[in-house]
Amino acid sequence: MEASERARCVVVGGGPAGMVLGLLLARAGVEVQVLEKHADFLRDFRGDTVHPSTLRLLDELGLGEAFAELPYSRVTEVAFPVAAHRTLRVADFSRLKGGYQYVAMIPQWDLLDLIADAAQQERTFTLRMRTAVTGLLREGGRVRGVSYRTEDGRSGEVRAALVVACDGRWSTLRREARLSPREFRVPIDAWWFRLPRTPEDDPSALTPRAGLGRFAVVIPRTDFLQIAYIARKGTDAALRARGIESFRRDVAELMPDFADRVDVLRSMDDVKHLDVRLNRLSRWHVEGLLCLGDAAHAMSPVGGVGINLAVQDAVAAATLLARPLLRGAPTARELAAVRNRRIIATVLVQGLQRMLHRGFVVPILEGRRMGPPKPMAVLLERLPRLTHLTAYVIGVGFRPEHAPDFAVRPRPSP
Ligand SMILES: Cc1cc2nc3c(=O)[nH]c(=O)nc-3n(C[C@H](O)[C@H](O)[C@H](O)COP(=O)(O)OP(=O)(O)OC[C@H]3O[C@@H](n4cnc5c(N)ncnc54)[C@H](O)[C@@H]3O)c2cc1C
Repeated sequence: MEASERARCVVVGGGPAGMVLGLLLARAGVEVQVLEKHADFLRDFRGDTVHPSTLRLLDELGLGEAFAELPYSRVTEVAFPVAAHRTLRVADFSRLKGGYQYVAMIPQWDLLDLIADAAQQERTFTLRMRTAVTGLLREGGRVRGVSYRTEDGRSGEVRAALVVACDGRWSTLRREARLSPREFRVPIDAWWFRLPRTPEDDPSALTPRAGLGRFAVVIPRTDFLQIAYIARKGTDAALRARGIESFRRDVAELMPDFADRVDVLRSMDDVKHLDVRLNRLSRWHVEGLLCLGDAAHAMSPVGGVGINLAVQDAVAAATLLARPLLRGAPTARELAAVRNRRIIATVLVQGLQRMLHRGFVVPILEGRRMGPPKPMAVLLERLPRLTHLTAYVIGVGFRPEHAPDFAVRPRPSP
């Protein structure tokens, strides 16, 4: 066992929540360590949507121009094909106010690398990769730090005034802290895969596709199409047992225009299962520990808002806790304030997601409908301005956070 180390704040997990929190606290001058169990940020399709609220935040942090240089595609609308050559526009991001009229689709690791590079310029920031947190240190009923094990087998402890669990939806720390989330019933799972993109494919519209008993979402990426195939929860084993031939057939039936490309799926290993979860903690903290992002609330992929809510949590936490951390250890009341600031946005988004599962996706999977509910389609056709509202709800959300003054940086001069 190594000698015990110290930091003012330990952040567990280098996902969007953990990296943004680390960057912001370091910019406030708080000594912060981020511990990440993986060697890098590479993950296929793990939340690749960066919404206008996050793009604006990156700009406020002085990272907008560096982000713009990364390779990403722009989704400017969500449009449902309702007949040959006719689509129903559901959300139109191009009318959003502010500088960002699109959702950027970018590999999550590029975003995390960008944030890590910025954070590493701060004197008080440390990122420790290949370091898995194994437990909590407690004294007098309060969390006082974490124990960890590195990939090469070393173990140690870091003591801290605050531990922040940003370790995702299967959070170890949440369990260790005996915080258990309320689980909401989710009727669907998602299967992700990629298909080649051709010049004929719409480069900027995210298109849901509905067939009898089948549903998928097509997302244009820089040089491929990302597909989310949606089916009933609990059917992964059956889908895999039927094999790749059947899966290719299902996909070709649902999206006949892609029938000539499904051969690129060589085996079911090319199809990644996402066990969709939707849950949330009622209390996000115990003394000395706070949960953020997926560790506090796992989101459905509907709307692709997981990253953005995780980032907003991190900004709220840094805004409220930087000063208390510079002083010492935040009080329970100060930790509770973070949850109080973020809970309404979380509840509203999860409520909308559950409504869309029940009223939109399930009727399609049960073969009761082939598209959006009729009243919704009529309303969107008669009142196209509603597509600005849907774009706002998806792209900006209910309580967008701004960078606190201590984290704001000017755009780099040309
Ligand atoms: C397959 C898939 C597809 C998704 N698609 C979308 C999408 O299209 N759009 C969207 O917005 N969201 C999507 N999501 C959700 C999105 O990725 C998450 O909501 C978002 O990443 C949450 O950020 P986070 O920082 O809270 O947690 P995570 O991104 O899960 O990060 C947690 C980090 O903690 C690390 N970690 C875990 N345990 C430990 C430990 N003990 N010690 C050290 N480190 C640890 C993990 O390695 C990970 O890097 C998807 C999720 C999955 C799984």
